[in-house]
Amino acid sequence: MSIETLIQDPAIPAEAGAVLASPYDPTDFDQSVMTTYGRFPLALERGSGCRVWDTQGKEYLDFVAGIATCTLGHAHPAMVETVTQQIQKLHHVSNLYYIPEQAKLAKWLIEHSCADRVFFCNSGAEANEGAIKLARKYAHQVLKIDQPIVLTAHASFHGRTLATITATGQPKYQKDFSPLVPGFHYVPYNDIKAIAAAISELDEGDRAVTAILLEPLQGEGGVRPGDKAYFQEIRRMCDETGILLILDEVQVGMGRSGKYWGYEHLGIEPDIFTSAKGLGGGIPIGAVMCKAFCNVFQPGDHASTFGGNPFACATALSVCETLERENILENVQQRGEQLREGLHAIAAKYPKQITEVRGWGLINGMELKADSPLTAADVVKAAIAEGLLLVPAGPKVIRFVPPLIVSVQEIDTALQVLEKVMGSW
Ligand SMILES: *Cc1c(COP(=O)(O)O)cnc(C)c1O
Repeated sequence: MSIETLIQDPAIPAEAGAVLASPYDPTDFDQSVMTTYGRFPLALERGSGCRVWDTQGKEYLDFVAGIATCTLGHAHPAMVETVTQQIQKLHHVSNLYYIPEQAKLAKWLIEHSCADRVFFCNSGAEANEGAIKLARKYAHQVLKIDQPIVLTAHASFHGRTLATITATGQPKYQKDFSPLVPGFHYVPYNDIKAIAAAISELDEGDRAVTAILLEPLQGEGGVRPGDKAYFQEIRRMCDETGILLILDEVQVGMGRSGKYWGYEHLGIEPDIFTSAKGLGGGIPIGAVMCKAFCNVFQPGDHASTFGGNPFACATALSVCETLERENILENVQQRGEQLREGLHAIAAKYPKQITEVRGWGLINGMELKADSPLTAADVVKAAIAEGLLLVPAGPKVIRFVPPLIVSVQEIDTALQVLEKVMGSW
């Protein structure tokens, strides 16, 4: 679940922002911008590393990172340099021409993943749309299935376009937007029997399951890591039947899990996978990646005006090269362990409030007890008032997704604030 939905939840008091030290007057904003988000009355103006400052000058430790997006934090010198140089040189041209920056980024991605080919777009939803289109074309052309079905999981999150809210197995995102896109069916996550049953039940006439779309770790749905045995069995079933395995790596990919890709934790390789959030470190870019055998797009099949422009690709490449050059994955693993250790200690201290701590690398969740009146939004609001930015993932899970460059001291500070906040109930 995303923060906007939570804060729109009627259970959360409208005066949520009153606890904040630096309220932002939203009048002009709300009179001109559509109210698609419930927002904290806080406007951030400046950032450096893992710190951000609001319009009143108050400092926050940023454990949201634009929701798992600002891989290198704020104002990272490598990004500043690349952005500055590229905007002066060439920022946008059409995909009617070759874009060398695209080739460099695609090559880096191919060398650091199981992919053979890459398509660039601008966001996670768009990347998943592209993956769904690619899988449908493969179903029609190669599998010869007229009515292909994509299986997705309950509590998943795949984006906000029509096809991706349909793929998202959460009715609250679909409400009021019917008719949805046909060809999707939902199964419980981490439940192999359910997926096997759905594949055989849906196979009828010219209809069949031709793709399975899953997150390696469910992000918005509550920071739930995928089960290794479950994914390995799915991989085996896909190999046996020709069904495509598509992984949505939009949130967990690009190093956030302590490995470049979430699938590396599961001991499998997808046929198609998507990336966005962390890929550009905060510059909008998304990617659809696939193995050679399902690389079925041809000229005219898919396109994007902005997708893969020189500016976005050069910046994303500087993020990728910095991750590698500065050995940031090691930091993700070590800081992740430090964070989980601290969260476990807090959970042990407040057993009436906290039920579980889970995650990989620097995507972690702390789940509050179902029978406790405390919600994730309560904790997030109290943390903001103490200068720590956090984000819920569902009504009961607090999500920790700091920049991947977060330091030992910053993790300690965040844990101290959280401990203070938890102690106030
Ligand atoms: C955020 C997210 C998306 C949607 O990405 P946008 O860039 O907001 O379109 C898709 N899938 C997952 C797993 C996400 O976390």
